[in-house]
Amino acid sequence: THWKHGGIVGVFGYGGGVIGRYADLQDQFPSVAHFHTMRVNQPSSKFYNSDYLRSLCDLWEYRGSGLVNMHGSTGDIIFLGTFTEQLEPVFYELGHVLQQDLGGSGSNLRSPSCCLGKARCEWSCIDTQAMCYELTHYYQDELHRPAFPYKFKFKFDGCPNCCVASIARADMSFIGTWKDDIRIDQDAVKAYIGGEIEPNAGAHKGRDWGKFDIQKEVINLCPTGCMQMEDGKLVIDNKECTRCMHCINVMPRALRPGTDTGVTILFGAKAPILEGAQMSMLTVPFMKCEPPYENIKDLIE
Ligand code: SF4
Ligand code: SF4
Repeated sequence: THWKHGGIVGVFGYGGGVIGRYADLQDQFPSVAHFHTMRVNQPSSKFYNSDYLRSLCDLWEYRGSGLVNMHGSTGDIIFLGTFTEQLEPVFYELGHVLQQDLGGSGSNLRSPSCCLGKARCEWSCIDTQAMCYELTHYYQDELHRPAFPYKFKFKFDGCPNCCVASIARADMSFIGTWKDDIRIDQDAVKAYIGGEIEPNAGAHKGRDWGKFDIQKEVINLCPTGCMQMEDGKLVIDNKECTRCMHCINVMPRALRPGTDTGVTILFGAKAPILEGAQMSMLTVPFMKCEPPYENIKDLIE
């Protein structure tokens, strides 16, 4: 086949969102003579109800191949395979019936994506869904009309656990963080040490790893060595903490991120085939991050 991110086929008014693909052997394979891909912008955190999913599948079964990729590495819902004459009807149905838009493709702003954030995760230091939604709407023109020399992606993670891999898969990574102290519940620390609470929220239950050892499993693994036990209490030298989340992940009922929260901003993650994955570079260690995100938009522009 021959294919291209935009430019050979698309929908009216948009430069991206459709990846045109034509078979070289159309006479032999007429049913896949065209096999265009449509990218549908995923809802923030990829939350759906079954009615919406059914509507999407019905639409694509009627007007396309029925093959759907949930989700592409871009985060988009990927509709795989349709003919040129079906593109506008699908676009109309998405926009006017399902209240849904195409995602980005080509040299434009790719569909921003975010982790579950405050909707479900107590560690989220920023409202990733609100941020993703606002910036997706604010930068509609950049998303749909490719004007850059190359693609550009925002990703939003609520904390440094990076569930949407913003540090490795975004040109501009937004990672929630805090600048005050990690909150410590010393009674819960004692309960972890005494074995009354399972470490890692029970994720490693059943392994023959022996009794939980706070020194070995938490303090010695702190990347900056900024934790210690003093008189039976856990002490953290917070100015040395890099917010790696390790201790919090192991003892979530004893440790929590601080309350003075904001965002760390990094640039330039990429994954070139020859050199392998490269993580983004920390550029803004801490910035407040509240709607309507004017300080963030200023930085972007
Ligand atoms: S990145 Fe952090 S805040 Fe977001 S879902 Fe993962 S653990 Fe929760
Ligand atoms: S978050 Fe990481 S760097 Fe900070 S105290 Fe915990 S283990 Fe150490």
